[in-house]
Amino acid sequence: MTDTLAATPTGLPPGSGSVALLVFAATLVYVISCTWWPLARCHCCKGTGRHARKDGKVFRPCRWCRSTGRRWRIGRRIYNAARNRQRDADRYQR
Ligand SMILES: [Zn+2]
Repeated sequence: MTDTLAATPTGLPPGSGSVALLVFAATLVYVISCTWWPLARCHCCKGTGRHARKDGKVFRPCRWCRSTGRRWRIGRRIYNAARNRQRDADRYQR
């Protein structure tokens, strides 16, 4: 009798390698897309940069994107935060 759930020599269940490879490939694609297109449409104002009153005559600026209609993507925000932390650390070292 063969046990289908038997662990591989690495201790991981069979097929984990291809799943890990898939996750790695998806992450790589996301990182590259965040590098090439760091901004996305603002989800709050749908890219218009302002909000309209119900009658559509009066507008107020969107506070979420500061009226630009664009926002930083999450992956790019993480990268920018890490870069700023590194820059600040280098600055205080001197
Ligand atoms: Zn907005």
